[in-house]
Amino acid sequence: MSKFSCDSYNFISIIDKIVSSGRISHAYIIQVKNYDEDFLLVKTFVKEILCKDKKTFNDISSCSSCNICSLIDSDNYPDLFIIEPDGKEIKKSQLLGLQKEFQNKSLLENKRVYILKEADKLNETAANTILKFLEEPSNDIIAILVTTNRYRMMETILSRCQVLSIDSKDSEVIYDNEIADLINFMCDGDSLFINYNDIINNILSDKVIAVARLKIIEELFVQYLTDKSLNSFDKYFLKLSDDIIVKYTLIIEEYLKKLEYNVNYKLWLDAFFASLLVVRNNV
Ligand SMILES: [Zn+2]
Repeated sequence: MSKFSCDSYNFISIIDKIVSSGRISHAYIIQVKNYDEDFLLVKTFVKEILCKDKKTFNDISSCSSCNICSLIDSDNYPDLFIIEPDGKEIKKSQLLGLQKEFQNKSLLENKRVYILKEADKLNETAANTILKFLEEPSNDIIAILVTTNRYRMMETILSRCQVLSIDSKDSEVIYDNEIADLINFMCDGDSLFINYNDIINNILSDKVIAVARLKIIEELFVQYLTDKSLNSFDKYFLKLSDDIIVKYTLIIEEYLKKLEYNVNYKLWLDAFFASLLVVRNNV
């Protein structure tokens, strides 16, 4: 019945969490494997954001029954703007048209969304125009930049967007405030266990999210151990010795493996954090 692959399933779970937590960011970069197939998932994300009939999003077959979702499906929703490269690049003139649209008040009293398809093809002046948009976010406007390679995006744009990925090789990256909170929690000895319930309820609320987030942290630890100059989380990592970071990395790896078996998630979490604490206390 489902047309989504496993990676897609993870992606849907992640966007479900984002939307149901109400923490929708004003700008996203979504890395896709392929523009045609994965664009359906990008649209699912848009539907989740705009749909008023949320109860139908309980499983991965998203709502397509309400008026808003039907209009999005048929590319007729008036407050969804999709921009694609005009020839080889996305030009500034295309974005000025968009800007003009946004000067008019929306009649729908809902968020407005623009999608830049092949966003890595923004030419330089267009990229600077987008950057201005992103620097002065408006409450009701959400930007979604879709690319097959986020590393081709300007650093300044990348740093202003939350990154999501539909590419499994990419370990379903979500590079967000929650990641920073989790890293802070793991690296700061004083806060370890004080905010425990908060962390597990909000940041590691289920298995899929935990795997995605811990894989990212593992990757960041390894990156930090290899080249400290590259890491933007070093203010947290510096609280730990390299020795502890190596041990933390091994613990994450070990526990991610355990999660592949049918373990009780809550007990798994407790054991995971207890292991981190043992490492901390044995120094
Ligand atoms: Zn709907």
